[in-house]
Amino acid sequence: MSFADLGLSDELLRAVGDTGYTEPTPIQASAIPSVLMMRDMIGIAQTGTGKTASFVLPMIDILAHGRSRARMPRSLILEPTRELAAQVAENFEKYGKYHKLSMALLIGGVQMGDQVKALEKGVDVLIATPGRLMDLFQRGKILLNGCSLLVIDEADRMLDMGFIPDIEEICTKLPAQRQTLLFSATMPPPIKKLADKFLSNPKTIEVARPASTNVNITQWVVPVKGPAFEKRATLRRLLAQEEVRTAIIFCNRKTTVRELNKSLKSHGLASGEIHGDMDQPARLAELDRFKKGDVNILVASDVAARGLDIKGVSHVFNFDAPWHPDDYVHRIGRTGRAGATGTAYTFVGPDDQENIDNIEKLTGQKIQRLSDLPDAPARDERPAAREDRSRRVRAERRPRRPETGPDQAEAPPRREREERRPHRQETARDDAPRTAQPERSPDPGRERRPRRESWRDQRDDQRGEAPDVGWNGPVPDFLGVALTR
Ligand code: AMP
Repeated sequence: MSFADLGLSDELLRAVGDTGYTEPTPIQASAIPSVLMMRDMIGIAQTGTGKTASFVLPMIDILAHGRSRARMPRSLILEPTRELAAQVAENFEKYGKYHKLSMALLIGGVQMGDQVKALEKGVDVLIATPGRLMDLFQRGKILLNGCSLLVIDEADRMLDMGFIPDIEEICTKLPAQRQTLLFSATMPPPIKKLADKFLSNPKTIEVARPASTNVNITQWVVPVKGPAFEKRATLRRLLAQEEVRTAIIFCNRKTTVRELNKSLKSHGLASGEIHGDMDQPARLAELDRFKKGDVNILVASDVAARGLDIKGVSHVFNFDAPWHPDDYVHRIGRTGRAGATGTAYTFVGPDDQENIDNIEKLTGQKIQRLSDLPDAPARDERPAAREDRSRRVRAERRPRRPETGPDQAEAPPRREREERRPHRQETARDDAPRTAQPERSPDPGRERRPRRESWRDQRDDQRGEAPDVGWNGPVPDFLGVALTR
């Protein structure tokens, strides 16, 4: 099947041709004709399947006719995070380059003034995170009764971030006669309920079993007996493998992200970090450094786990097994994208055991243990040469300390010794819940897990409780609030 068989306009086919895509992905082939026929749709698809184009492409053709009016956008795409919203906006620019549609990106961490100006001119497409959208709505800056096309993207992520009540409220402000598309990698009961309430006779398209992992990703569990510094020593050995070109390392806590990045840098590795305590410009700048190859390792909290489309990530490491098993699927989905292969390692220490059990239950698959293998990469302590890039970056940094033997735990520096203190101290400082938990799926053990950083942090500043920081530096093109008309 080719894109030309899907009923898209010539302008869109030209824009798709410019990207070099030769044929639609399975979700695009199934979704695009239905969306063009104005049907409601549920897309159960993992990131990396091409799901963004499956709604952006037909939306552009649907919106090509008609005009926008001041403060009354014609369509709305809801995204759980600013990064994802910015990425969808990028897609609109790419595919909409031969159309004259206007777009506004409403995300927190950016001055409201420009967003309001764009809204006043009238926009065809609104791409928003729920917090900022509600804020502008409550200030009377936006009317939603002209939005006849709604996309709820990454619905299960919205659930995790506590956005479902906001989405329900937003749905009630939209016209009853509208087309609604809902995308989610998994369909936990609250999402099913949302779909039943707000979609009408939807076509369901499923391109991978819910919570299944990508077959292009080789997965390993790495048993680690001791505390954090042992995980770090194991991590460095694995990072030293020849084939580790780029890696995202996920940690459950912001403090762990910061500490780990510091530790990696002190060992001469070219690493950066991204987590919810950083403001938006700092997060984007860090992502940019990773995308450009200035650093080849990115240490991340779950704020970066979903949807981010970074090409060619060869490895994902779960420094901690994620508390929520769904997050495992999303974290490792940062590698093995668009047909490429990838490798994911999950470190399992005593604190991670329950989490990995839940992950294996969810994915229905027992992940192979690295220590079970005779030629396990972890044994290969002295690695072959690394990629030129990381070597170059390392050369600029201070000389490496002499390596310790494979099983000889290095004498931990003072900071690491401090980490041997009971975990509770760190948890109490950084991650103790401050407010009631949002709605949760009835997943066993979920309530007992510590609260994650992401939803509260993002929500707070999206709602304007933290100062609006604006951009420190040039705004990337794709973040421009209004395009051409
Ligand atoms: P998504 O699932 O929307 O995050 O897309 C994942 C990646 O697949 C992105 O890098 C897209 O640019 C790429 N992509 C989308 N559609 C196609 C296609 N038809 N052929 C090849 N790559 C695609």
